[in-house]
Amino acid sequence: AQQERAECAAFPYTGVAGTGNERSFIAIKPDGVQRGLIAEVISRFEKKGYKLVAMKMIWATEEMAANHYDDLKGRPFFPALVKYFASGPIVAMVWEGPDVIKTGRKILGATNPQAADVGTLRGDFCLTTGRNIIHGSDGPESAAHEIGMWFTEKECSAYSRSIDSWIVA
Ligand code: ADP
Repeated sequence: AQQERAECAAFPYTGVAGTGNERSFIAIKPDGVQRGLIAEVISRFEKKGYKLVAMKMIWATEEMAANHYDDLKGRPFFPALVKYFASGPIVAMVWEGPDVIKTGRKILGATNPQAADVGTLRGDFCLTTGRNIIHGSDGPESAAHEIGMWFTEKECSAYSRSIDSWIVA
């Protein structure tokens, strides 16, 4: 195991948007955790072929929630959003793979679950924008900001899987 870990550490830095190792920050929001949807969310990203490179459960403070949603500070729903995001533990994750930021958003579905296609997480599992179960980075800049905010570089594992060549070519 020690040797394997050393090999992981020697793995080149990954996570650059537009490469095969693009990374996105995905978080199961407090309602998703409460409703028992952790495994469902992980399953969809896993079955798609993406690689989970970091994960932890964390109960965010309102300050952390506000920092996470910094770009929405001026919006009328911001105070309610901060309370919602800090209302219970979340499952924070980093997923890696080709086009994971954009494709991850498709797996999530539209922000408003009533506009989200059936077959997406929001289309299948929730009803209103105020309780839409999951977060996903919406671009390379937010992905970098969010991954850096919730995880240290050491908490993100760069590793290869023997099945990778059956998933990407
Ligand atoms: P997304 O989460 O799809 O990236 P936004 O960045 O626009 O969507 O908004 C962040 C989150 O803020 C949404 O997921 C949702 O929880 C909440 N939100 C957005 N718009 C509204 C709204 N009009 N009313 C209540 N909550 C909202």
